[in-house]
Amino acid sequence: MQIFDAIIIGAGFSGLYQLHSLRDKLGLKVKVLEAGEGVGGTWYWNRYPGARCDTESKAYSYYFSKELYEEWNWSERYPTQPEIEKYLNFVTDQLNMRKEIQFNAQVTDLIFDENRHIWRVLLKNKEQYFAKFVISAVGCLSFANVPTIPNRDLFRGEVYHTGNWPKKNPNLKGKKIGVIGTGSTGIQVIPEVAKLAKKLIVFQRTPNYSVPANNYKLTEADQIRANEEFDKSKQLMLQHRGGHPWKHSNKAAKKTNPVERTKLYEKAWDNGGLSFRDTFSDLSVDLESNNTASNFIKDKIKSIVHDHHTADLLTDFDHPFGSKRPPIDTNYYETFNRKDVELINIRNNPIESFVSNGIKTSKQHYELDVMIFATGFDALTGTLLNMNIEGNNNIKLKNVWKSGPITNLGLLIPNFPNLFLITGPGSPAVLTNMPRAIEQHVEWISECIHFMITKNYQTIETTSKAADKWGNTVQDAVNDTFFLSAKHSWYLGGNIPNKPKVFIPYAGGLNKYRKLCDMVALAKYDEFIFTEEK
Ligand code: NAP
Repeated sequence: MQIFDAIIIGAGFSGLYQLHSLRDKLGLKVKVLEAGEGVGGTWYWNRYPGARCDTESKAYSYYFSKELYEEWNWSERYPTQPEIEKYLNFVTDQLNMRKEIQFNAQVTDLIFDENRHIWRVLLKNKEQYFAKFVISAVGCLSFANVPTIPNRDLFRGEVYHTGNWPKKNPNLKGKKIGVIGTGSTGIQVIPEVAKLAKKLIVFQRTPNYSVPANNYKLTEADQIRANEEFDKSKQLMLQHRGGHPWKHSNKAAKKTNPVERTKLYEKAWDNGGLSFRDTFSDLSVDLESNNTASNFIKDKIKSIVHDHHTADLLTDFDHPFGSKRPPIDTNYYETFNRKDVELINIRNNPIESFVSNGIKTSKQHYELDVMIFATGFDALTGTLLNMNIEGNNNIKLKNVWKSGPITNLGLLIPNFPNLFLITGPGSPAVLTNMPRAIEQHVEWISECIHFMITKNYQTIETTSKAADKWGNTVQDAVNDTFFLSAKHSWYLGGNIPNKPKVFIPYAGGLNKYRKLCDMVALAKYDEFIFTEEK
């Protein structure tokens, strides 16, 4: 029986760097199991029209190798899905990693053998592998949330979810298309689909605050500057609570006079992108300050959208700005000025069922050829809980996490020895520029495994007491913010019926989190239980 030192599940940003770290830095025998036909993870599956990253390309790259960074040139301020997929293939080939990756390998079960201290990993095709360590690199937004609308079988048209978009792009030209969902994904897909459709109907339950991306092509001079600024950008990202390459503002919106405040919002709006959130220091903690941002965005939307009724629907916000992940867009609001685009409020006119040629709401019937669900994900826990994961005494993760995920630092789960999570629940991941969080996790995990090897340790496990303590830290961090006021947000599990309503990520900042993780390593992981190699 062949036993790997480590099995990594997933070949996206996390899995690839974890493979490189364990294989090339620690010399371990590693296998990566990937459900897709290629590398990319999130960026393999989310290939819908308009898919692009909201983080700027120069920051949405690996920073563990300056050489690698300098060898790749991004073509736009924000990278498109095809370009990110290409980038991850480039990294795979540069580091000669393809041979360790098994594609079309969907993991169904992870079962810990307590006697032999190894994990048995089962695939959908019934193959099985064994490994001392398992590292979940399954991503945070990888389990599609597909609404259950009655009579789907009756509908004669096509149905797609943006998170499982077909590799062969469907032909949408000249069709009557419906889109459900106006989160970051919907806001990207809607302007692109509008260009192709004969008629586009957007079914909106809750409007979102969106800020212009202000995308542009990068020039050769931009590339050279990005390379020159590699160290400076890295430092800025390490200091930023969200892992982004800019400084936090130290100005409170409330304490800034209204004229100056508007000037700063205008500047941030023109610059575009996620840094708008950081225009002032108090937007996520002071409602009065938050209202100044919210009202500014509302006025901007109303100045763009010609039809008053549509503009009212697009600005009928039910949560403070930033309490849900704020999207950025290219011509989202402008799209509603097209004659062939209609916005339908499904909050007071809910979708009742599919019919053979479209969809029926409580008030009307809409003819459609294609329905696109941009309805998000069962985030952070969906993919993990979709596998049968059994730890000590065959305890099942499904049962342990019945009332919400329990982890220590988002990295380890009590009773599941040697199972590490990259960007797991309880980590700051989804509130950050993901590659920065991923690099921090991978490096922490690799260092911990290295420590175990040097000490001849067989297993590592976190105690329930330490995990409970971390759970309290996660709750305390969110209590200082507005995140809890967005009741339906996926951060809270609020988008999935019957999911426990607990705030899942750590909102205390990646910079602070990194220090906490470093302290644990410095203290030689004294909060963890190790067993020695027999
Ligand atoms: P999302 O933020 O969860 O938005 C889902 C949308 O679908 C919401 O408008 C939601 O309405 C609606 N919806 C869900 N279920 C519904 C139902 N049964 N009936 C009617 N409407 C329903 O999902 P997402 O837009 O895919 O974004 C998820 C996350 O992925 C983002 O927050 C972001 O972190 C990441 N993302 C990143 C990028 C990027 O960087 N470029 C792009 C896309 C996504 P309610 O609000 O009323 O629930």
